[in-house]
Amino acid sequence: MEQYSDFAIKTCNEFKKVQEKFVETYDLNSYTEYFYDEETSLITFKKPQAELNFEYIPIGSYSNSTRTWLWSWNNKELVHNNKLKTLLVKKFGEKYKYSELTEGYFDADEFIGWELTSITFDLIEAIGSYRIVNEHNLEIYFLITDKIENNFVEELKKINKSKTEKLIECEKHGKSRNAFICQHLNEKEKTGFEESFESEIGMYLEEDEDLSAWCNKCEERRNKDDGWNDENMQIAKIKLVCENCYFGIKEFNKK
Ligand SMILES: [Zn+2]
Ligand SMILES: [Zn+2]
Repeated sequence: MEQYSDFAIKTCNEFKKVQEKFVETYDLNSYTEYFYDEETSLITFKKPQAELNFEYIPIGSYSNSTRTWLWSWNNKELVHNNKLKTLLVKKFGEKYKYSELTEGYFDADEFIGWELTSITFDLIEAIGSYRIVNEHNLEIYFLITDKIENNFVEELKKINKSKTEKLIECEKHGKSRNAFICQHLNEKEKTGFEESFESEIGMYLEEDEDLSAWCNKCEERRNKDDGWNDENMQIAKIKLVCENCYFGIKEFNKK
């Protein structure tokens, strides 16, 4: 098994080239202004007569004052509807036992931001990254996933905003996307895990798409009845949970 430090150095070196190319392709350094919006997950670069928009995923942040790193998936304050995509990095870290990728918050030096950005880029499809340093000397790292054509920006803003408005507040996980499960699913006993479609944490969801799952018994009943009806829905008693809780239960059941 590769040591974490070897893996990190290799990944950083590869990413450096990609990132330089990204900045060059879009001539990012020529822009004089930028702003970003948590609700829409869009970052906009501006200069006279030109505007450039990208969709992004927040990776995490490094605080220069406390010298700590905080992963986005562990940041309860963050309202992004796509922040849990970064849990794919955690999953990878669990497989290889890299604690930098599995701990949500830890002490680190100033190199950690680009290091973890490189690794995230390696695991999640994207075109580049961007770092912002805010007024509190907090470095915020974005994974840039897509360039958005100017004539699609307003529409995408609306779509992403309505997704953000739908976020629920989970006691355990903070702001999260919603999901639905039958009353029998839990993290204590295995009940089976049937889904309306195959899912992966942080996956892209259309506005009208919701993660939903139910137990084996509900599935048997549903098959017998040829689909959901009032009666078997009474048994299932579908309830609302957060996306993070949903995948916790899924993983428990698949063990
Ligand atoms: Zn059930
Ligand atoms: Zn939760």
